[in-house]
Amino acid sequence: MVYKVVRYLNNPILERPAAPVAEPEFNTPALSQLVEDMFETMYASHGIGLAAPQIDISKRLTVIDVAGAEEGQEPQRIVLINPEVISKDGKQTGEEGCLSIPGFREPVSRAKKTAVRARNVKGETFEIGGEDLLARAFLHEIDHLNGILFINHLSALKRDLIKRKIKKLQKAGEWE
Ligand SMILES: [Zn+2]
Repeated sequence: MVYKVVRYLNNPILERPAAPVAEPEFNTPALSQLVEDMFETMYASHGIGLAAPQIDISKRLTVIDVAGAEEGQEPQRIVLINPEVISKDGKQTGEEGCLSIPGFREPVSRAKKTAVRARNVKGETFEIGGEDLLARAFLHEIDHLNGILFINHLSALKRDLIKRKIKKLQKAGEWE
């Protein structure tokens, strides 16, 4: 099932920390189905990452596939549940966008390398490292679980400009 992706300024869930996935939810068909639906929603939107708050579900759960957008590439599905960033190294600056803020892309500085500890759908804890685009995806998606959007990393001036443009689109009924 493809969910509707929530847009910035239409739903405050995007700016609130999400709740951890609780113990009884692990290793259930409901959690596996939610993960499948999140991948389906992400691929349908040509994204490389999607966090549960973006489909109006306040859970610390995100799906990532940095190959997902590329035709003919092998999928590299990553599911992070209740993730924590355990290390960050170096710096990269590159354009970033968000399925909840479509049409806007801005340069954002992030760590070049990161390592994350998370749980899988079975509830098993694992650690995974990422560099470059994958590190950016990890940090962008984990930010979502803390109610932080990529525009929060921009200057107040740039952020306000984007906000004003979105408010205009909202008034015109072009932001739903
Ligand atoms: Zn995003």
